Amino acid sequence: MLSTLEQDEITLHYQPLARRDGSVGGMEALMRWHHRQRGSISPEAFIPIFEDSGIIVPLSRWALAEAARDAATWGQPLRIAVNLSAKQFEQDDLAKVVEGVLSTAGLAAGRLELEVGEAALVTSARRARRTLEQLRELGVGIALADFGAGRTGPSYLREFPFTKVKLARTLVADAATSAPTRSIIHMVAALAHALGLSVAAEGVETEHQRTLLEAEGCDWLQGYLIGRPRPIWELGRFTGASVAVPGVGATMLSPLLRTG
Ligand code: C2E
Repeated sequence: MLSTLEQDEITLHYQPLARRDGSVGGMEALMRWHHRQRGSISPEAFIPIFEDSGIIVPLSRWALAEAARDAATWGQPLRIAVNLSAKQFEQDDLAKVVEGVLSTAGLAAGRLELEVGEAALVTSARRARRTLEQLRELGVGIALADFGAGRTGPSYLREFPFTKVKLARTLVADAATSAPTRSIIHMVAALAHALGLSVAAEGVETEHQRTLLEAEGCDWLQGYLIGRPRPIWELGRFTGASVAVPGVGATMLSPLLRTG
């Protein structure tokens, strides 16, 4: 499947993040693969394959550069969140890569937020911490993604220099029916706030979930209720960008794939 990957099959979609007052303050960049023969393939299926092959490293660099370049054109100074792969933490130059991307795009470091999952933290916690500290020194935000889905616990919030914690969709889905889950969300939000982190909830689909999550202390909401991931040219009402150039970023992918 990977051997037939063509340069223009990978694109980015963006999903809005809203503050408690409902205003959109950020976008998360999410990779999409539209395979020539097979059609759309879910990231949950292709990201692990990309990770195993190592191609995730050049692709994630491409995604970062593309998202930063897009965000720099927006009329609104929205935050742009980009996922990092655990494989990128095996490279010693991650902070330099990020610094280079910001400088090339002309994007203020404070507008970039890098999302990090548990896998990046467990293989070598010391190495991950050092890399995250270097990234924080650049001024970028670091979000712990999918909190509550794996084994990440409260100690992670203290041990690594995060600026945000994102509660997993599974926690959010259970919140409406489970009082213990609501207590966990409440406790995590209180701890995160005490440590100076903000709290986001992923996968918010209903008004009822929004009300509960806000009551338990979430600062940011992301999910189909706010908006589904879309190509950037469909999100101009949030970004303030007037550009409508489908596929323009694909030209950058080719050289990166060759080096991967
Ligand atoms: P994630 O970073 O936790 O992304 C959120 C996922 O939840 C996205 O799935 C999004 O489409 C989905 N989602 C958002 N709101 C809702 C909702 O209200 N309900 C439901 N049911 N789902 C919702 P997606 O796009 O399939 O991405 C899955 C995962 O793939 C991401 O999880 C992330 O871990 C990974 N991924 C996606 N793009 C990239 C990328 O560029 N680089 C890397 N390294 N990983 C990526």
